[in-house]
Amino acid sequence: MYVGIDDTDSADGMCTTYICSVIIDELKYFGFNVIGYPRLIRLNPFVRFKTRGNGALSFKLNVKGNGEVQKVKDIVLKKIEELSRLNDERTSPGVVFYSGEITDSLQSYSLNIIRNIISIDEAEDFAKDIGAEFFKFKKGRGIIGALAAIGCPNTDKTYELLAYRMPENYGKKRLIDYDSVFKMNNSTYPDTFDNVDGDNSYIAIEPHTPCPILYGIRGESPEAVLNANEMIKVCEPVEKIAVFQTNQHTDMHLVKAGDISKMERYKCYIIDGTVKDYPFTFEGGHVIFILSDRSGEIHCAAYEPTKEFRDIIRKLAPGDRLRVYGSIGERGTLNIEKINIIELAEIYKTENPLCRCGKRMKSAGSGKGYKCVKCGTKLRNGVKDSVEVERDLETGFYEVPPSARRHLSKPIVRMNRKL
Ligand code: ZN
Repeated sequence: MYVGIDDTDSADGMCTTYICSVIIDELKYFGFNVIGYPRLIRLNPFVRFKTRGNGALSFKLNVKGNGEVQKVKDIVLKKIEELSRLNDERTSPGVVFYSGEITDSLQSYSLNIIRNIISIDEAEDFAKDIGAEFFKFKKGRGIIGALAAIGCPNTDKTYELLAYRMPENYGKKRLIDYDSVFKMNNSTYPDTFDNVDGDNSYIAIEPHTPCPILYGIRGESPEAVLNANEMIKVCEPVEKIAVFQTNQHTDMHLVKAGDISKMERYKCYIIDGTVKDYPFTFEGGHVIFILSDRSGEIHCAAYEPTKEFRDIIRKLAPGDRLRVYGSIGERGTLNIEKINIIELAEIYKTENPLCRCGKRMKSAGSGKGYKCVKCGTKLRNGVKDSVEVERDLETGFYEVPPSARRHLSKPIVRMNRKL
């Protein structure tokens, strides 16, 4: 039996992962056998009514007979009612129970939810088709993601360990020993990743919302995140920890666009193209350039929060061939998550002619050619040289820092990992 849960949290606190983990503890207390790790599935980052990270949860358990099935439903629904932020107008929980096979069509449904946006009615119709039972609280928008969390393929996956705070500390400053985080990162990266920012000035495991999470460690395996957790020192009690299998850091939200002209707003893409003009820095520090292909062109943006990543974007030049990974927001601009520079264009600048003595000549005045200030040579009909400019940039992958990264974005350190 699979259980899927979504949209129980709110912007001012609580968190669906926490509710899920409380439910699993309760089920275990009543003797139920929860199989494997619960799953935290991130959905389309553009869902309009998203609460915070837009993640849905699911888990699998062994049940025998209708009595046990009913008992599981009772426990799950009671806890959702108890712990959900039902008074938050945007919170709209949904729970799905499903006892069938994870079919291709269920997997396709999940990928569709991760990449597109559908209505509650469409999700309900699909749930009825496959014989899944759903429970809606308020509008029950959560059933869309709850079903997606059950059916999400795990061809690529990572793990996240979450440490939860004592309720009396919610909203207070988190007391994490930052030195221990740097040490943990040094000895466990790249089996764990996104612990600290590239320039080591920022701790990325710590959330900045009043939620129950003290910190989260992302990694390649349950062993990696559990081992890393042993190295973290904190100066406040940890209520409990939970490990989730997740589609975070897998690029599952991205689809290959093919042509720029076919790209749509509120979707996430991988697109190849050529830089059309020199990047431009706008007020607020946002850097924009135009990417083009045979079919059209699109503005690509590295916004201010992407920090030092903008320095790379500023070095791009017309003719550079790129593969861009990103999402198209409300304004139709492609918000860059990472780029792969396939080929750098040769850039030339014009300079005054070189004198036979080796010195660059000076203009002798309008229409009078050039003269050498060193040896006095004059060149009445001299023409300007075209000189290749050395590029201060290399081909390959560049990504935004962890602080600006989407949950679903695959870090470069994972790009060449075998699945
Ligand atoms: Zn000279």
